[in-house]
Amino acid sequence: MTVLTNMQTRDVEALLHPYTNAVTLRQTGAHVIESGEGVYVTDADGKRYIEGMAGLWCCGLGFGDAELVDAAKQQLDKLPYYHLFGGRSHEPAIELAERIKDLMPSMARVFYQSSGSEANETQIKLAWYYNNARGRPEKKKIISRVRGYHGVSIVSASLTGLPYNHKSFDLPVDRIHHTSNPHHWREAHEGESERDFSARLAAELEEMILAEGPDTVAAFIAEPVMGAGGVIVPPEGYFEAIMPVLHKYDVLCIADEVICGFARTGEWFGHQKLNMQPTSVSMAKQLTGGYAPLSAVAINQDMADAIEAHSGEIGIFGHGFTYGGHPMGCAVGVAALDIYKRRNILGHVQSIEAGFQRRIRSYADHPLVGEARGIGLLGALELSPGGKAMFDQPGKVGARLAAELVKHGVILRAIGDTLAFCPPMTITEDELEEMFAPIETALDATHHWAKAEGMM
Ligand code: PMP
Repeated sequence: MTVLTNMQTRDVEALLHPYTNAVTLRQTGAHVIESGEGVYVTDADGKRYIEGMAGLWCCGLGFGDAELVDAAKQQLDKLPYYHLFGGRSHEPAIELAERIKDLMPSMARVFYQSSGSEANETQIKLAWYYNNARGRPEKKKIISRVRGYHGVSIVSASLTGLPYNHKSFDLPVDRIHHTSNPHHWREAHEGESERDFSARLAAELEEMILAEGPDTVAAFIAEPVMGAGGVIVPPEGYFEAIMPVLHKYDVLCIADEVICGFARTGEWFGHQKLNMQPTSVSMAKQLTGGYAPLSAVAINQDMADAIEAHSGEIGIFGHGFTYGGHPMGCAVGVAALDIYKRRNILGHVQSIEAGFQRRIRSYADHPLVGEARGIGLLGALELSPGGKAMFDQPGKVGARLAAELVKHGVILRAIGDTLAFCPPMTITEDELEEMFAPIETALDATHHWAKAEGMM
C-alpha cells in the first residue's frame, strides 16, 4: 500500500473529490498538481507531464499565458466585482457578448453564468419561460440523449444521460427524456451505413415527440460532438436528419458547445462543423481558456424578443447569478477571443488536426482497441476485450491505461474504458509526437495486465 505524503493526507482529510471513488483515493492518494506552463503541468514531486486533456477540456490556450493573466490582473485592479442585475452593467460583459455575437451571427443576446451546468440550467429555464411567453404553457418537455453530458446541477444532471449521474441522486427529474446516442460503431445494426443509422435515429426522435405529444415538447439539447460521454462523433448526415424533425414540431434546438466551442472541432463552433442549426448555444471552458469560471448562453432573435417582451409584461426577468458575467471572467474571455483570432488558433487546429487524427487511428488495430475515433483536436480510443464486447468490470482497464500513461509523463482521461484526448490547441507537432510516443507501450503493458488478470 502506498504511504501517503503529508499533502495527500491533508487532501483526503479535507476534500470530498468530484468524480472520484473516495475509498480507493484513501489508498492511492491524490495526484497533486502544482504549476503549469504551455502544454505541461508539474506535480508536487516536481515531475512534468503533457496535459493531454487541457485540464478538463478547458485550457485550449495551455497554461501560464501571460496575456490572460494580465487581463485578469488589470480587471481586478480596475473593478474586481460588479453585476448585471437591475439594469447595472460593465464594459467587459458588453464587449464579450458583442464578440460572441460576431462569431455567431444568428444569435441576438448573451446571458452569463459561471459554469457549464449553470448555462444548461439557464437554457431549460429560458425554454420554459419562452413557451410561457408564447402562450404555450404545456410545451415544456426536453429531449436529451443517452450518453450526453450537460452538467451536474439537478436539471443539467437530468439532461446528462449517464447512469452514475442519476444513480443515488434520485434523477432524472420529470419532463426530461433521453433519445438514443449516435455512436455508430456501437449502436448501429449489423451492416447499417452511417446515413441509414442517422435516418433511424431521426425517426426515433420523431416517434418520441409524437408519443409525448408535440405540443408538450419544448426543446432538444445536444453536444455537436459528445465529449464526456466518450468523444462520440455523430455519424454522417446526423444533424441534417435531426433538424427537419425539430422544425416540423417547433422544438427548440440547444447546442451545448461547452467542449466543442472555440475551434476545438476545427471550426469556430461544433454546430457549424456538423450542420446543426441551434436556436440557442451554451458555452464555457475555452471561452476563458479555463483561466476564469465563466459560461454564456446565446439566444436567437425570436427567443430574445419573446423573453424580453414577457419580462416587460410580468415586471421582471427573474433569473440571474451573483457571479454571472463576473468582470474578471469577461475580461479574460475578451482576451481569450482576442488570442484565438490574433494567433490564428483555428488555423493552427486546422493545420494539425489531420496528423492528430492519423495518430489516433494508428492504434485501431491494437488488440486492446475496439474503435479509434475523433474530430478536430478531440480523440478517443475505445478499449475492448475483442470486437464490440465490453469488459465485465467497466472502467478498470481504462483506469489502468491512464495510470500507465502517467508513469510515462502523459495525462489523459479514461472515461470508463475509453481513453479521451483533448490537448491544448496550442500544441506543436513536436509536443504531439511527445504525447503519442508512450501510447503503444502503455497499450501493450495494459493489454498484458488485462490478459494476466483474466479480463480478456
Ligand atoms: N456541458 C458539457 C458539454 C460539458 O462537457 C460539461 C463539463 N464537462 C458541462 C456541460 C458542465 O460544465 P461544468 O462542469 O462547468 O458545470
